[in-house]
Amino acid sequence: YQGLAGRSTNEVLQLYAARGGQQKLQRSFLVTQLHRAIKKRLKQDLKSLHSFALELSKEFRRQSKTCLYQVLAAVQGVQLQNEAMQMFQVKAFDLEQSLQEVTERYEKEKQKRRALHNSLVELRGNIRVHCRIRPLLPFDDAAGHSISEDRQRNSSEKVAYAADDETVLVKCSRPGHASINKTFQFERVYNDSESQDAVFADVAPLLTSLLDGYNVCIMAYGQTGSGKTYTMLGPQVEGNFAFTIEDESELGIIPRATQEVFRLISEKPPGSYWVEVSVVEVYNNEIFDLLAKDSYGKVFSIKRDVVTTREGKSDVPLLTHETVENASEFLHLVKKGIQLRVRHPTLVHAHSSRSHLVVTLTITTVVFGDNFGTSWEDEQASQRVNKDVSFTFPQKTRESRSASSSGTSSPVQFEATEKIKQVKTRLQLVDLAGSECVGMSGVTGAALRETSFINRSLSALADVLGAIAEQRSHVPYRNSKLTHLLQDSVGGDAKLLVMLCISPGQKYLTESMQSLGFGTRARQVQRGQVKKKNFPMSSKAK
Ligand code: ADP
Ligand code: MG
Repeated sequence: YQGLAGRSTNEVLQLYAARGGQQKLQRSFLVTQLHRAIKKRLKQDLKSLHSFALELSKEFRRQSKTCLYQVLAAVQGVQLQNEAMQMFQVKAFDLEQSLQEVTERYEKEKQKRRALHNSLVELRGNIRVHCRIRPLLPFDDAAGHSISEDRQRNSSEKVAYAADDETVLVKCSRPGHASINKTFQFERVYNDSESQDAVFADVAPLLTSLLDGYNVCIMAYGQTGSGKTYTMLGPQVEGNFAFTIEDESELGIIPRATQEVFRLISEKPPGSYWVEVSVVEVYNNEIFDLLAKDSYGKVFSIKRDVVTTREGKSDVPLLTHETVENASEFLHLVKKGIQLRVRHPTLVHAHSSRSHLVVTLTITTVVFGDNFGTSWEDEQASQRVNKDVSFTFPQKTRESRSASSSGTSSPVQFEATEKIKQVKTRLQLVDLAGSECVGMSGVTGAALRETSFINRSLSALADVLGAIAEQRSHVPYRNSKLTHLLQDSVGGDAKLLVMLCISPGQKYLTESMQSLGFGTRARQVQRGQVKKKNFPMSSKAK
């Protein structure tokens, strides 16, 4: 402003205009410069963008190539896997087939081995021992918990199992006790879900043997409540047996065996067989005839004795033998007899049998002809009748029954025209009393006396088996009425099957181990080949 002092307005205006033009020029120059710079920068950016895009597309192509390769590889992999899978499937199918073949072969081998084992058992006269483990039942828990609690408790308490159909496994570890893990082998082991059918299927061949001329004895051994009576007879309805129960699948060995025997007899020539039944109880070392009748025909139990005959066989003089014609007559008599059997509820089981029950089915076979062989004299009942002698034997026929109002056996005249021999074979079915110790059953007084008699008779049985096993010259059959009565069956005159019954609960561990020990010892007894009764024409024994 100092330069403007003293100048005229025109001069000032001219000066301002000149300065404005100059500034305009400068501004347009700057703008041009700026434009150029921006353009340059934009060009540079565009270039780098372009190269970046190029790079990106290159990368994209590269990556998509890799991806494609990967997809291809994956597809190939899947294809390979599919092929491999198919191969595996084929292999699995092959394996399955060969497994099936092996299983079939194994089953066949097992059967062969069983058959061989059976022949060996037969040859050595071994006692067959089968073992049945019953299911856990509500009464196994005496404390009376609710069912669900019971199941929980009991399932954890189970200690005896069927490891397979020949092995029992006892496994138990309790605090304060040495743990047990022990196996026992038997001819057959039934698990807790095996039915009465399965049990009988293994018994049936013995009945064929019976008809082929062998004596047979089937004996149930085990503590009270282990299922002896269930196995031998079937379930009890309020302490009684209903052999006609609707559900036949529940029937035990005795009713089934009877039906089978009569079925087998029905296949034989008529009139050549007759069947008698006797029912005996051994209670407090006394023998009672459960089919004896008083003078009014009422059945009552009467004391009998067992003696040894001159031939060295055991016999019960005056024992009632009732002739029966069919299974239902047989079972009717057995049922009547059993109703007289002494019972005494124990802590273990309310329907405990305090006696040994021996049901005997005797088959008398009439054999015609000369060809009796040499050993027929052994037969107590054998008779040789000459051509001209008439021969009487007891046979209850329908005609004779209608003629006799009593309905009991009546002799039938038989006109013998040739040599005749009677051969008797015997099926003894034994339901032993409980093998538990005194402490377990919690009994006192008279029941304690019963228990000690039971224990004594069962140890006598074990002693007898021990003596036979050791081939001692003296076998102490007469130490107890039970062993004296069963002398012939136990001593080697019969194919003997011991059916061990086991309660699976931990509570019964001691008793179960005792029973398994008994069975193991019984199995080792070799009595020599069981003799066949002398039939002239016999079929092959089972
Ligand atoms: P034991 O004669 O040995 O004293 P029981 O045969 O009377 O024993 O059996 C005791 C209880 O167990 C009975 O109520 C019986 O029905 C039941 N029982 C035994 N074995 C079986 C089984 N295998 N399946 C189902 N219930 C059984
Ligand atoms: Mg019983």
